[in-house]
Amino acid sequence: MNSYDVIVVGGGMMGTACAYYLTREGLKTALVERGDIASGTVSHTDGNIGYSEKQPGVDMLQGYHSLQLYMEMEKEFDYDFEFERDGKGDPSGYIIACVTDFEMEEAKKRAKEMQDLNLEAYAVGPKEFQELEPLVSKDLAGALWMPKESSVCPFRVAFGYVYESQKTGLLDVYYRTEVKDVLQDPVTKAVQGIVTDKGETLRAPKVVNAAGCWAPFIGAMVGLDIPIEPRYGQLMVTEKTGKITQHRGFIEYGYILAKYLKNDTYDRQVSPLVEAYNVCFNITTAHTGNTQIGGCRLFRGYSIKSEYQIMTAIAERAIRFFPMLKNVNCIRSFGGLRPFCLDHLPIVSDVEEVPGFYICSGHEGSGIALGPVAGKLISEYATGQELYFPEARELAWSRFTPEKIAAYRKAEQENTRELEEKEKQFEHKRY
Ligand SMILES: Cc1cc2nc3c(=O)[nH]c(=O)nc-3n(C[C@H](O)[C@H](O)[C@H](O)COP(=O)(O)OP(=O)(O)OC[C@H]3O[C@@H](n4cnc5c(N)ncnc54)[C@H](O)[C@@H]3O)c2cc1C
Repeated sequence: MNSYDVIVVGGGMMGTACAYYLTREGLKTALVERGDIASGTVSHTDGNIGYSEKQPGVDMLQGYHSLQLYMEMEKEFDYDFEFERDGKGDPSGYIIACVTDFEMEEAKKRAKEMQDLNLEAYAVGPKEFQELEPLVSKDLAGALWMPKESSVCPFRVAFGYVYESQKTGLLDVYYRTEVKDVLQDPVTKAVQGIVTDKGETLRAPKVVNAAGCWAPFIGAMVGLDIPIEPRYGQLMVTEKTGKITQHRGFIEYGYILAKYLKNDTYDRQVSPLVEAYNVCFNITTAHTGNTQIGGCRLFRGYSIKSEYQIMTAIAERAIRFFPMLKNVNCIRSFGGLRPFCLDHLPIVSDVEEVPGFYICSGHEGSGIALGPVAGKLISEYATGQELYFPEARELAWSRFTPEKIAAYRKAEQENTRELEEKEKQFEHKRY
């Protein structure tokens, strides 16, 4: 029977980041993944990293700190994870495009909030926006521009974490191994290890639940009701286009509003199709020259099937921002699941009622950006150190009570029901 200091469940962004920072602390670590490294959401995603689309407060701060850690990793890693820089060697920057005056006003407020935190952000009008992004539609209201944000190749980050951790000799990876149970002391409830689908027992006094959308199943093994649900997103890949945007990260402001607000809180001025599928535009051209466009936010259970109506809605929205895309072919589409924690913040902490159990999940649409800081925080919890930034305590599991979880579930169900009603009008239509 193998024994470790820590067992990490899940080889996605969170699990590999935890493994990296735990081994750096000298802890003998097992990483247990039921598929291959990065076979979950990490390989069904974009790679934008930064802080600007996060909520002011702890959310934005964790984005900022994570970006700093990415820059440290870039210096330390032998493994190239494609941290994007411009021709002058600066981070490639990030654009959030505003269609309406309302969005532009919101963007100005957000720029101010970031500037108050000493983060670099600018609200730019239409003329400057055109200079920053020459191919964008001419009738947009402006943009929020963050010159210090960037993007990475998500699965290369996960592979890089494993590669760098294995150099220490402290990491064992169990591929194609599913965790079926978490062992606990019957009296104290302290964790003692895990049991795999191969009937093997791995022993450790610490277990990290980094199972993304599947974190609730691992939580249930120790009696926890973790309020994380899979939030579906869909992306499309085009034929080779070369670079369309000057900034590798580019989204529409409606993305922020759709991520955090109830669907009908403001008038987005989009078509009924785009509204029904909760589509918000984002675009990235990969190093291969293919462009990836998206996306949507919907609840579809654990299905990752691509849907034709969503492709149509994404294409419509993409042409709204970049008219030249009208003449570009898409070659494939795929879906992915964001681990959505119902109060919009991830859970990154220990769990008082289950000694030795840690949760690192619920990062929704920001897990690539937040992997480094989440992994570092878990290593600090596991070794009893001061946290990397004090506000991170707000991400702790202890913020939940059964009553709060029930209230979040009720609100989310209502929001989802409203979206489903809007979708019904397109159910039988083909485009
Ligand atoms: C369309 C889309 C676009 C996105 N764009 C961005 C972006 O631009 N920037 C950004 O920061 N984020 C983005 N995200 C979000 C980001 O991809 C996720 O937050 C992140 O991948 C979550 O990582 P994770 O490690 O928590 O989950 P996952 O990557 O899903 O990893 C969890 C792992 O746990 C494993 N597992 C589950 N159960 C078990 C078990 N019982 N035993 C063993 N292993 C198990 C799974 O196989 C999986 O590999 C996007 C997401 C989507 C869907």
